Amino acid sequence: MPESLTPESIAGAAYIVAALLFILSLAGLSRHETARAGVGYGIAGMTIALVATIWVTFQGAWDRPGTMLGLGLLVVTVLIGGSIGLWRARIVEMTGMPELIALLHSFVGLAAVIVGWNGHLDPPALEGSLADIHHAEVFIGIFIGGVTFTGSIVAFLKLSARMKSAPLVLPGKNALNLGAIVVFLGLTVWYVMDSQLWLLVLVTALAFALGWHLVASIGGGDMPVVISMLNSYSGWAAAAAGFLLNNDLLIVTGALVGSSGAYLSYIMCKAMNRSFISVIAGGFGIEAPAKADADLGEYSEIQAVDAAEMLKGASSVIITPGYGMAVAQAQYPVAELTAKLRERGIDVRFGIHPVAGRLPGHMNVLLAEAKVPYDIVEEMDEINDDLAATSVVLVIGANDTVNPAAAEDPGSPIAGMPVLRVWEADNVIVFKRSMSTGYAGVQNPLFFRDNAQMLFGDAKERVEDILKSL
Ligand code: NDP
Repeated sequence: MPESLTPESIAGAAYIVAALLFILSLAGLSRHETARAGVGYGIAGMTIALVATIWVTFQGAWDRPGTMLGLGLLVVTVLIGGSIGLWRARIVEMTGMPELIALLHSFVGLAAVIVGWNGHLDPPALEGSLADIHHAEVFIGIFIGGVTFTGSIVAFLKLSARMKSAPLVLPGKNALNLGAIVVFLGLTVWYVMDSQLWLLVLVTALAFALGWHLVASIGGGDMPVVISMLNSYSGWAAAAAGFLLNNDLLIVTGALVGSSGAYLSYIMCKAMNRSFISVIAGGFGIEAPAKADADLGEYSEIQAVDAAEMLKGASSVIITPGYGMAVAQAQYPVAELTAKLRERGIDVRFGIHPVAGRLPGHMNVLLAEAKVPYDIVEEMDEINDDLAATSVVLVIGANDTVNPAAAEDPGSPIAGMPVLRVWEADNVIVFKRSMSTGYAGVQNPLFFRDNAQMLFGDAKERVEDILKSL
């Protein structure tokens, strides 16, 4: 091997290739047509990164005691982790994807905490300001990792309905969050000057508590933003671990994930009319809703046969699908219904809310799966002004995304969130199984409007009933 070609320089070159592949992967994932290639680049980049890291770690250490044991442990761990990951990813339902992602983010956070602790217990031989920098890296890495870890666990619990999605509103919650940040800054300075173990214990507990509180304080309607925010945090946690492990690729990858996650959170906040700062600060400025459930009046019901008659007489129909369509897997009969109505000369279009379902683009994927033509699937902003001139709107398993309280009730927890203004149409038929609330836990006054009728039951079965009647 030429002298300039050291194992580290070869690994460094491999890291550059892997980092480029990760950038290509992100670029690919931003468009439907290139998403599959994007995933391929990601897999290739990760494989190169893993092989290069393992190779450079064990290079030249074969005759050292414990090397084979270390390598064996690593292979077994990768095999166990990889198998569990493959198994979970294969069986996960599309509706369960966000909770799986939240759980994976928690692992990144936990890994950063462990790497930080390792940096304290097995410190590199450094002196002076280099040692100070190392101590700061340890402390900050543990803090970001800890917040990401428990924050992601709460997100997982909320998304999988193991914990209530309503926001936790502790008295003085903003002061608690701010206080935690101030204490963290103070402890960091202390630890840099005097790296005592108990300070690490304290910052770990503080980060765990803050992560838990930040995400518990955010209401159901803001969960999509929280997921992308935790994605961003997990990136920064990985970057912090990269500094500690002296691994350039981990720093670059962490920064890529951190900044793209932060940007995605920002775009989502804009789309949802939410303050970015408020969401990243655990619902800063959002107080408990002033009033309890008000009496919204009576609702009326419709049967599938009558719904079919109404559709026959319609000139235009807009379908607004939501999470319930995904649960019921109603997209196939919905596609069939669309085709039947269009054959009759009725103008049928879909209105897609940016956070309908449980992950960005959820509805678009389901409709594409059922071969609904792309050109009749429109975004909320494109279709909202047309709703007032529509004969019938079919709300299929959607709730929060069509809730007029968001537009009309400033005291509502989802106030200000843009929604599909379905209530402006001549008639609205709501497909759901009961009068229960949507993900944000807020009652929907739409159901009680004069032009709205409830079609109760599983969305798939009810759409099939309409198809039979047609
Ligand atoms: P919601 O979650 O507000 O409501 C879904 C409705 O579907 C429920 O009211 C439920 O009522 C009904 N439903 C459930 N199962 C069935 C079934 N088998 N047949 C018929 N109806 C059914 O849905 P939206 O899509 O309108 O809103 C999404 C919510 O999720 C928003 O609050 C959003 O912020 C949040 N969220 C979105 C994410 C994203 O990235 N898209 C990620 C995380 C959260 P019933 O039980 O009575 O049937």
